[in-house]
Amino acid sequence: MDDNSLHYLVEKIRIQAQITDLQELFPHKELGWIRDSQLLSMPICSQTMGLRKGSSQLIDVLKLMGGASLPVGRIYEGHVNALQLINVYADQEQKNTLFSDIINRQLLLGVWNTQQADGVVIRQIEEGKYRLEGCKTFCSGGHWIQLPMITGQLISKQTNGWQMCIIPLEKVKRISVDSSGWKPLGMRASASYKMDFTGIVIDRNDLIGQVSDYYRQPYFSAGALRFAAVQLGAVQMILQETHRFLKDSGRADDTFQKIRIAEMATLVETGNLWVSRATVLTDLWQGACRHTESLLAYVNMTRSVIAETCIRCMDLAERSVGISALMQPHPLERIHRDLTTYLKQPAPDAAVLSTGTYVLNQQDVNSMWADSDCSIRPC
Ligand SMILES: Cc1cc2nc3c(=O)[nH]c(=O)nc-3n(C[C@H](O)[C@H](O)[C@H](O)COP(=O)(O)OP(=O)(O)OC[C@H]3O[C@@H](n4cnc5c(N)ncnc54)[C@H](O)[C@@H]3O)c2cc1C
Repeated sequence: MDDNSLHYLVEKIRIQAQITDLQELFPHKELGWIRDSQLLSMPICSQTMGLRKGSSQLIDVLKLMGGASLPVGRIYEGHVNALQLINVYADQEQKNTLFSDIINRQLLLGVWNTQQADGVVIRQIEEGKYRLEGCKTFCSGGHWIQLPMITGQLISKQTNGWQMCIIPLEKVKRISVDSSGWKPLGMRASASYKMDFTGIVIDRNDLIGQVSDYYRQPYFSAGALRFAAVQLGAVQMILQETHRFLKDSGRADDTFQKIRIAEMATLVETGNLWVSRATVLTDLWQGACRHTESLLAYVNMTRSVIAETCIRCMDLAERSVGISALMQPHPLERIHRDLTTYLKQPAPDAAVLSTGTYVLNQQDVNSMWADSDCSIRPC
């Protein structure tokens, strides 16, 4: 997809986001346009039936999506997460089938790992057959996801443990949906419902990877770069909307407003530099599979910086714009609700702690991140 078409698509999504939010709808139109633009298969290389090497294009798309609509950004990020898990853990035959289905039919995927006490059990019932029991919570995309990747406790004759599986398209209709508990401050359009898988039977071929693969590093924690990119897109939009308001309302010459917008611009650019550097380090890791701990610490730092950037910029924007920033239909009101909600990502304290542990384990703090001797091999 060329840059002009991408920017046209993103602008359409940005305009529609306000309508979708006010009507508390699922972003059907937005996802339809994404499908029509073939963005659901954009990361797949059809020659190798694997994902393209290099993350910068994808990170840019995630940023643009986050700027246009955080619920759409969340759903697209979940789709990309599923593609990456398939790429890393599925065998080539599974990849051929799944990726060609996604290319040809623009199927929408999601990854649902979060659960409560009634979580998912994958119980072997006969050779090669498994019956699912239990529920997942915060399932973004809900019943609109066509190929959900879920995790659960595998109980079989051979092995027990945390296992990924894909619910095949023809069985998705049998998942029971509970939307009654989804009443968040923001992100309503992400339709992150509770889903009950009890009674669905899957085959050996629907299991992806081995037990415990889901939490393997750096794939598990370094994925935080993707949601940080979506959040960064939103905070960039906060800067844009604040800038627009100050100019349109004739308040741009005020000294206090200049100081606040200077801080916002500095923070947003700092965020961009962090995300860009983390993207380079991710690609270097993919090229050489070295310095895993360093990458994890770097991505954890990036995630924490972006979260603080978002919180500070929301505060600065509110002070600059005043009550209009908190009233519908101003876009800042929606972005504030959505971003406040989407900033709630798992274990933020643990991310900071793991960076501290990494830094204190180093002999030399001057060479903790550099890894320029590796090469990136494009697809
Ligand atoms: C809009 C939205 C969409 C989502 N979509 C999906 C999805 O599609 N798939 C999916 O799997 N999940 C999804 N989730 C769930 C998400 O991945 C997180 O699990 C969830 O948001 C965690 O939020 P939390 O603030 O409760 O995190 P927590 O990790 O519970 O953090 C809350 C606080 O508790 C602290 N803390 C964490 N663990 C401990 C501990 N053991 N002891 C003491 N303190 C602790 C943290 O540092 C933090 O201060 C979604 C969430 C949202 C908001």
